[in-house]
Amino acid sequence: MSRFQKFKHQTRDVIHRGFDRHIRLAVTGLSGAGKTALITGILEQLLYANETQQLPYFNVRQQQRLNGCRLHTSSNWQVSRFDYEGAIDCLTGQAPKWPQSTRDVSEIRVEIKYQPRSGLAGRVMDTRRLTLDLIDYPGEWLLDLPLLQLSYDEWSRQQQRLLKAELRDQLASGWLDKVQTAVKVASEEKAEQQLRELATDYRAFLRQCRERKLLLLQPGRMVLPGELEGAPALEFFPWPLSEPMPEAWAKRLREKYRYYQQNVITPFYQKYFKHFNRQVVLVDVLQALQNGEHHFAELQLAINELMKSFSYGNNSLLKRLMSPVIDKVALVATKADSIAPQNHQKLTQLLQLMTQKQRQELQFDQIPHQVFSVAGIATSQIRKLSDGTTVLDGINEQRELVRVGAPEVPNAMPTEADWRQGYVYPQFYPGFTAQDSPLPHIRLDQLLEYVLGDKLK
Ligand code: GDP
Repeated sequence: MSRFQKFKHQTRDVIHRGFDRHIRLAVTGLSGAGKTALITGILEQLLYANETQQLPYFNVRQQQRLNGCRLHTSSNWQVSRFDYEGAIDCLTGQAPKWPQSTRDVSEIRVEIKYQPRSGLAGRVMDTRRLTLDLIDYPGEWLLDLPLLQLSYDEWSRQQQRLLKAELRDQLASGWLDKVQTAVKVASEEKAEQQLRELATDYRAFLRQCRERKLLLLQPGRMVLPGELEGAPALEFFPWPLSEPMPEAWAKRLREKYRYYQQNVITPFYQKYFKHFNRQVVLVDVLQALQNGEHHFAELQLAINELMKSFSYGNNSLLKRLMSPVIDKVALVATKADSIAPQNHQKLTQLLQLMTQKQRQELQFDQIPHQVFSVAGIATSQIRKLSDGTTVLDGINEQRELVRVGAPEVPNAMPTEADWRQGYVYPQFYPGFTAQDSPLPHIRLDQLLEYVLGDKLK
């Protein structure tokens, strides 16, 4: 090795260590928000970046500085790998279908090799590598953060109020009857079993709430338990009655709740959350509009709760708990392929309005954030008919080609009259083949540029 080559080699090592080489980008959102589809779409675009013209706003690609991206083995052996190949098999198989939604935490590592744009590194090094970990986890788990600040009794009082709300009161009535009946036979010897049964019924109630599109459901692990399925850690419930808990149960319920706080919620934040650098939060705004006023309001409340995990001003619980390092947040309205492009801006605007308060918090904490409308996997084609109407062509559940008029999105909060009229959006299915990779998307290049661009200069 010549002296110059040696110098170049050594300098490269120093520079490699000096620059940001690793980024942990987490993707979350409530069930059905589109996490699995979005991560699959991001991987498709990255892995095929140089073989497509689909990424005009992803600068490293557009400036022809991208050598390539490839999947890499993750160094975190305790977490399942995100099943990218399985998702692609589903989307492009014999009978294409949407892949299995997120149920637990998983991650996947991509290595991005590129040429720096300028500066010292540009002159000395030929290439740089950025290791990108994409982490997928249920947004429901973030709804548990507020529980860390509440005692069991405080949480129960909060839930008692919630149980009286419209729809919840109906869905909870069967479970409440069971609690009332069981109270009469509460005993120390049978407490374990009695509470287990009532906890199982409470979970069934939460599942029913979920089916009826309610979103503010606690504890989050009872909705999506991940590795805790069947674990005694989930054998509790909020005390729902105005009369005091039976002596035989009180200690156990409070203990289980404390256990859940200390051994389920806190470790999630310390083990995973603490190590995320950037966060993408997905929101299915269109589904909420279609489900009506009540659901839309519930979604706003749930996002409000969920976003508390990202604003950690000086006094916040999170900061005391673990000093998180998230330095950028992207708020993303998904499934933009269900509407025409001229409505995308309205969708973005609506999500901006829905998250105004939380974005102010981020602003206050000086955490950069931006709102997008995207489709992780775009399943429709836009057509303009001779009479000027815009339609969307796609595939329905029966795998038939369908054409629908492009539906409108309000650009302000819907009024009472709007709700009375209601909103309907098409639900398209994938109809791809293995030759279609990289699968089409909408605006993932802009999202990628926002969350990665500054690390690829
Ligand atoms: P997750 O629970 O957040 O992982 O949600 P998924 O990614 O599994 O998405 C839930 C469902 O939403 C899918 O089964 C699809 O029906 C639909 N979906 C998700 N992403 C898209 C998208 O980009 N376009 C369309 N048209 N539908 C989507």
